[in-house]
Amino acid sequence: MNIAQKFLDNLLQKPERILFSAISSGGHIIWQTSHTEILEQVLQILSCIKKAGIVKGERVAISFSKNSLLVPTHIAILAAGAVVVPLNSALTEREMAAVLDKAEVSLAIVEDRVFERVSKYAFNTTYPWWVKGESFQSSKDIHSLAQVLGNKDRLDLCVEQVEENDLALMLFTSGTTGRPKGVGLSHKNIAANLQSLIVEAWKIDEGDKLLHALPVHHIHGLGLGIYGTLYAKNSTVFLEKFDPTVVVNAVRSEKVTLFMGVPTMYSRILDVAEQSDFTTMRLFVSGSAPLSTELFRKFQEKFGITILERYGLTETIINSTNPLDGIRKAGTVGLALNGVEIEVFDPETFQKLSRGQTGEVWIRGANVFAGYWRDEESTKAAFHHDWFRTGDLGVFDEDGYLKIVGRIKELIIVGGSNISPSEVEIVFEKEPYFVEYAVAGLPDADLGEKVALFAVLREGEDESRVRRRLQEIADKELAAYKRPREYLFVESLPRNAMGKVERGKLKYFMK
Ligand code: AMP
Repeated sequence: MNIAQKFLDNLLQKPERILFSAISSGGHIIWQTSHTEILEQVLQILSCIKKAGIVKGERVAISFSKNSLLVPTHIAILAAGAVVVPLNSALTEREMAAVLDKAEVSLAIVEDRVFERVSKYAFNTTYPWWVKGESFQSSKDIHSLAQVLGNKDRLDLCVEQVEENDLALMLFTSGTTGRPKGVGLSHKNIAANLQSLIVEAWKIDEGDKLLHALPVHHIHGLGLGIYGTLYAKNSTVFLEKFDPTVVVNAVRSEKVTLFMGVPTMYSRILDVAEQSDFTTMRLFVSGSAPLSTELFRKFQEKFGITILERYGLTETIINSTNPLDGIRKAGTVGLALNGVEIEVFDPETFQKLSRGQTGEVWIRGANVFAGYWRDEESTKAAFHHDWFRTGDLGVFDEDGYLKIVGRIKELIIVGGSNISPSEVEIVFEKEPYFVEYAVAGLPDADLGEKVALFAVLREGEDESRVRRRLQEIADKELAAYKRPREYLFVESLPRNAMGKVERGKLKYFMK
């Protein structure tokens, strides 16, 4: 079943209903689209995609801000049977090139600001097609919409038939190696997870309105926020960027019922919101990074609202959630979703552990991806038979609620965005002034963690000169959120018996 078929079936109902809109930071509606308008745009874009010669299974990259073409473009790529590859517009040219290269993208649909960054690379290599989003609006290459709209049989013909395990979406995670890894999610992975999470666990329906302030290249804002909306038929109001005051005002003016955020957002909302601001709200969901017990409690005390925390990964979408109706426990990520198995294993012996024992969290179910794109080695390392090894350390409490207590892997999570130390380290590898250096996360009151670079300098090097030089490199080579916030010069780096730098101990090794 092509997930696009489900989205289109939903769009065929209630043609005039507004499904998506975007508001400015001043609270004005910038654009809004009805079911019919989205359908029309899907058909235009689908026609362009087919004209470009895209066939089932090919990868099509997309990088849009939250404009009115964003959603129709996603649906059209899926309907063509192609695989959507969302590109984070914050990436530098070099980082984008790595993703495009790995995914072997055949077509990229991007807006102007991104086009400038990818075009040089694109035209120098083999990618055959680059289309600016703007060109769709004036495209002469449009189906005769009147013939198609309102006629379900004709619309069905537009949707490419796929098998349930065929890929729908390819998202790139940093992983621990620093090489971007393509996580291919199938039509089945997405449909199964949206059904058990959005529809069954959170009971989201047409009466709900989501305020969307998350990025649209990540599984959280894209999979749950956008695909969730198309699946469950709630409506969605986009904010291009998160701003706590704008969120509070929008909740009131738009009568919002749902918000999905990362913990950093909640701490900022807490600072600016008044007690009476959230009377229309039904559900605040938190994920992507640990929500502190303190923040959970403060939110409860100030607003009488209990944030619902859930846990997931790009590779598995969502695994567990605190219950909508039952007890939401602070410091836990709740209970396994329907159709998802979660167990805690000893990562060395592969023994299943009991409640109260800490080990690695393993996941099995229809939500689990099949493997990393063209990367057998990483795929093999990530699975034990059909169990996906998350790399997270967890423990079940006495009621079966899961707590995430740490990470075996060394990812740094800055405000909900994952960064692997090695992808930061690699940009400094040609610099001559180090004896050795390594990157690790340090606690940060605002964003949870921050990137820090620890270096042992050669004798005679001037710390401030080196720091300036490193900052210049980071500014050029790394997306802003990946740049080190601290450059710490130390006497030596902690190493284990195998000579490997122990990143987890770095913070204790400051001079
Ligand atoms: P991503 O693939 O970017 O979604 O990142 C997945 C990682 O985020 C997981 O492996 C966890 O380490 C972390 N994560 C996601 N949700 C939570 C949560 N509620 N609590 C703690 N860590 C989380």
